[in-house]
Amino acid sequence: MTLRSALAPLLVLALSLPTSLRAQAPAGAEPVTLVRAGRLFDSESGRMLEGREILVRGSRIAEVGTGLAVPEGASVVDLSAYTVLPGLIDAHTHLLYLEDPSAGLTLEGVRSLVAEGLPLRALHGAARARSFLDAGITTVRDLGNSGLFGDVALMKAIADGSLPGARIVPSGPGLSPVGGQFPGLVPAHLGLAAEEYRIVRGPADAAEAVRENVTLGARAIKVYSNNTPNPASLSVEEMRAVVEEASRMGARVAAHATSDAAIWRAVEAGVHSIEHGYQVADSTLRFMAERDVALVPTDLDSVSIIRYAARSGQAGPTPAQISGYLANGRDRLRRARAAGVTIAAGSDNYIDFGMPQGEAAKRVLFAYVDAGMTPAEVLQAATVTDAHLLGMEGQIGVVKAGALADLIAVEGDPLADFGAIERVRFVMKGGRVHREP
Ligand SMILES: [Zn+2]
Repeated sequence: MTLRSALAPLLVLALSLPTSLRAQAPAGAEPVTLVRAGRLFDSESGRMLEGREILVRGSRIAEVGTGLAVPEGASVVDLSAYTVLPGLIDAHTHLLYLEDPSAGLTLEGVRSLVAEGLPLRALHGAARARSFLDAGITTVRDLGNSGLFGDVALMKAIADGSLPGARIVPSGPGLSPVGGQFPGLVPAHLGLAAEEYRIVRGPADAAEAVRENVTLGARAIKVYSNNTPNPASLSVEEMRAVVEEASRMGARVAAHATSDAAIWRAVEAGVHSIEHGYQVADSTLRFMAERDVALVPTDLDSVSIIRYAARSGQAGPTPAQISGYLANGRDRLRRARAAGVTIAAGSDNYIDFGMPQGEAAKRVLFAYVDAGMTPAEVLQAATVTDAHLLGMEGQIGVVKAGALADLIAVEGDPLADFGAIERVRFVMKGGRVHREP
């Protein structure tokens, strides 16, 4: 402690020296890679470009063009048989929580707290984060259900290179009214909810919760405008206090909101995205468009519904029930787009579908295509739009000079055959190759 205190002024001095006076990295320490892309998806324009080269220096993209020379000492990755896209983004994950469809939300939530426990949850989360990277999802915004900051610990282990996995923008515990999302807890055990959620009591406490979360490593804030399946909700004043404090601390706010009234209140308070929005009315959609609040439609596609039913042990849904569920989601998405609401991509994948989590999460993109978005619009939602929502525009979700080198390659052209996004053949995150072609 004493030695560290004595050295502190020297460390500060070292950090403030101009680059030329610092020890230089040995020449050639920064790896240089030239990637040859058969096709390249331009996420900003939504167009497919033919035959491009991408020069990667260290963790970032240095140049994109045609006929780029191979710099001396550079390695070449030949993806000329594939379509290259920016690494995909999932704006709504729960890496430290996985629910067995045959059990209830409360039982599963309590089990993860008291029987699985935080160290094991984080280890399980690490495996799931890797499955996202395998699937070509290079960044996720993880929105709670990770105990007390297990998501932050996982973010750090991935960021320092200890583990392979998607880059995480963590929220820490979601800010919720009493009870969190565990319905039916008896009074003596209501405190369990406070181990999974940050229970908020009044506007001043709401602001304090944001200060706590960001101080402890959160990079986004999650609020529960209503905490379905429990019946409580946060007030506009509480959420406004959250938004004001979060903006002071440089974090954006995502609101879980399912009922129309909960959505309206969250928008009024100034949140940046509405998660789920199942019961949104047209007038509320117009309010969202006016306030530039994005919708993250966490919908299941038909493949996921059938798997869910099969694993829940219940009688499978009838074709009429499946088409009813799908019709609801499609109708909401169509109305949202007609109202001019920005659509961002997020899976909310926390169900054990019996397949790798990253692959299961990608099914949400098929739900958007089923609902009438074009493949290009869906890919833009999962790249540039999500990057903006995460406050990382220009850093992720684009293949251009200065951005982080998050690149994936798929077999086929996803604009012509969207199923191509399931055929991931190459993954690079931050300039490091995770999956060889
Ligand atoms: Zn969720």
